[in-house]
Formats: sequence, C-alpha cells, structure tokens
Amino acid sequence: MGAWVFTGYRVQHNKARGPYKGGVRYHPSVDLDEVKALAAWMTFKTAVVDIPYGGAKGGVVCDPKRLSSGEVERLTRRYTAMIMDEIGPFKDVPAPDVGTDAQVMAWMMDTYSSLKGYSVPEVVTGKPIALGGSYGREEATGKGVAVCAREAAKKIGLRLKGATLAVQGYGKVGYWSAEALVEMGCKLIAVTDAGGGAYNPKGLDPRGLKEHERRSGSVSGYEGAEGISNEELFQLECDILVPAALENQISEEVASNVNAKIISEGANGPTTPGADKILYEKGVVVIPDILANAGGVTVSYFEWVQNLNRDRWPLETVNARLEGKMVSAFKAVSDLAEREGVSMRTSAYMLAVGKVAEAQSQLGLFP
Ligand code: NAD
Repeated sequence: MGAWVFTGYRVQHNKARGPYKGGVRYHPSVDLDEVKALAAWMTFKTAVVDIPYGGAKGGVVCDPKRLSSGEVERLTRRYTAMIMDEIGPFKDVPAPDVGTDAQVMAWMMDTYSSLKGYSVPEVVTGKPIALGGSYGREEATGKGVAVCAREAAKKIGLRLKGATLAVQGYGKVGYWSAEALVEMGCKLIAVTDAGGGAYNPKGLDPRGLKEHERRSGSVSGYEGAEGISNEELFQLECDILVPAALENQISEEVASNVNAKIISEGANGPTTPGADKILYEKGVVVIPDILANAGGVTVSYFEWVQNLNRDRWPLETVNARLEGKMVSAFKAVSDLAEREGVSMRTSAYMLAVGKVAEAQSQLGLFP
C-alpha cells in the first residue's frame, strides 16, 4: 500500500500581544489564503476581547468524514510532529476548528508531550476534560454568539421571548448557539447543514435535532420538519440569524434578501464585504465574527491559564467570566460604533487594530 500525502499549513500572523493562538481546520477546501485570513482574524479577535494572545491558524487539506478514526489520528500526529518546533505553550497554542474536535486536540497534546518527554497540556486548548480541558469550552463559542445577540436585542428593543431564530451550520458553534438562544426564550425555526435543512415555524427542539443529526449525519429529515435550503434560510422572516458554517455564505445577492433584524456571526467571515455594506444600509444589526464568536478563544484562554496553574475552575466560574468578557467587549464595540457613526464591524476593527498597533509600537524593533 502506498503512503497517503496530505498538505497542511500553520500560519502565524502577529504576536505583539502574546503567544500565537488559533484553531486547526480539517476540510477539503483548506488552502493557504484561507489559513492566512483565519490567522489574521485571530489576531484581531483576541484583541477585541482583550486576552493576551496573538493570532495564528492551521489546516490540513482532507475530508475527515471520509477517514477512519485511525487515519485521522495518524494524520494529526504527523501534522503535529511537522509543526513541533513552531508551536508551544508560550509560542503558539492550537485549538479545534471545523472538522477537528477534543479528540484531535488530545492526539496533538500526546504527540507534543511524547516528543518533549513530559506532559504539556497547555500546548493546545479544547482538550477533553480528562486531559485538562476546561469545563464550558465546548459550548463557549455558541454561548458568546448568544450573549452578543441578547445584548444587540436589548439595544434595538427586541424581546427575546418568542423571537424567531435561524441557524446555518449545526456543528459545535451552530448547535450551542441555538441551545443558548432557545434557553434565553428564542424559538428555533430553521437550521441547515452540509446535508440539508430542517424548518418548522412552530419551533424545533435544539437537543432533539442534535440527536437526530448525530444518528443520521444531518439535520435533514427531522421529525415534523420540512426541508429548507441555505438560500431559503437566509431569506426567512426571522429576528435573529446565526451563520455558523463557513466563509462567504452571505453574498451581496443573499444580503439583499435577508429579512432578519440581527445577525450574530458564529462562523469566521460568513459575510462578504459587499454584503456587509448592503446589510448596514438596510439597518440589519450585524455583530461581527471577531466579536460574536470570540467566546471560544476566551474560554481557550481560561483553559490555558488553568493548565499553567495546574488548576480547574468550576463551570459557574468559567461561565461567569465568559459572560463578563463578552458583555464588556460588546459594550466597547457598540459604544464606539455609536460614537463614530460606523458599523459594529468597523468599530471592532478600530478597537482591535488600535490595540495591536499600540502593543507593536511599545515593543519597538529588536535588534
Ligand atoms: P463544525 O465542523 O463543528 O461544524 C460546521 C457545520 O457547518 C456542520 O454542521 C456542517 O454540516 C455545516 N456546513 C458545512 N458546509 C455547509 C453548507 N454548505 N451549508 C450549510 N451548512 C454547512 O465547525 P464549527 O467549529 O462549528 O465551526 C463553524 C464556524 O465557526 C467556522 O467558520 C469556524 O471557523 C467558526 N468558529 C469556530 C469556533 C469553535 O470554537 N469551534 C470558534 C470561533 C469560530
């Protein structure tokens, strides 16, 4: 049998504010430009929520759904060995992204630790709880997406009780966003994923839908729900829309048909620049990715701090600190947007670029 060759990347964008930090994506369409863009987003995301990290990202061109668990393990161990000298707890700390999970992080940690000769849990975040993962990490990104949507709803006077919700993507981010927003009183009416969609104007049960997706591989075919496409989902009359799949899903054409009041960007880069302009002109409140989905990296940071201290915080502590970080970042971004008369995306970048530039100029140039 011949060996399989996979192409992998690790891109480090900026470390002025702390060690590089960013996820690892396993997906057939990963390419260097995508990984570079995702790395830059991480730099600005960590700055928006004010955690002491820079930005990085990694990826391997593969389709994990078509690989066995043993194949994913071998691929992960080889990838980790290849980037061994580039990563480290004070250098660059990987985490899960699309197509990777806590098990992949466990293999990365084990490979790194085995090559070092001692256990280094703080080299990656998003690990299983048994290996030093943090309580609340898995749901953190979705919770942050929901907290931002809740804060935006308060600002525009939208009652969350009974507010309708549509979610694109039902993986780690989409599912936990839905779960958290339904807990806040919203009604989940539509979800799509790579295999199809589920629509029920009377409301979908987020947990039941997740169980169905786990069993069948897609949200499509859920009991009592009709099928729905991405195009239809984006056009729905609904209060809150959460894109939580991949980049460039909301194009200019899609944006002109959007009927939602609030978009909380769970995915990285779901809205194209042209679409962003259209949504702003239409008065849709768009909570930008670098703010809305920063809950994940925030709890990753909490995990790293716990690992470095060989400590474990209770779930309530993690959730309370996450809530505090998200609410204050939302307020900073939204206040600046109002003061400057710009979109929340522009103000988030004004804040983030300012912080990175300040750190970079105070560091100066060595030698
Ligand atoms: P995931 O692999 O767990 O889930 C991705 C979901 O998107 C799946 O349900 C998949 O079926 C769906 N999807 C893929 N193609 C689709 C299509 N064409 N139409 C509809 N749905 C489609 O990944 P995830 O971790 O949930 O990441 C989702 C997004 O959130 C990515 O942009 C990722 O970079 C971003 N993000 C993730 C985290 C995190 O903590 N996991 C943090 C910040 C940002």
